[in-house]
Amino acid sequence: MPIYEYICDGCGYEFEELQGMSELPVEVCPKCGARQVRRKMSVSGFHLKGTGWYVTDFKNSGKGSGGSGSSKEGSK
Ligand SMILES: [Zn+2]
Repeated sequence: MPIYEYICDGCGYEFEELQGMSELPVEVCPKCGARQVRRKMSVSGFHLKGTGWYVTDFKNSGKGSGGSGSSKEGSK
């Protein structure tokens, strides 16, 4: 459920409401009772900061090059 931020133009009271999609927006200020509440567009609580996902692979696939080719040929 998204959290909506409201601000009352009458008294300046700011509050948040957890509301579903089907619920009506708040119109009356819960503090002073004025019908001058407007919804702020910023939705707080759902900001995921720091989505940098760095994967540094340090996999040196060094194949063993130790096979020294010393092929001795038997001379007869
Ligand atoms: Zn108010």
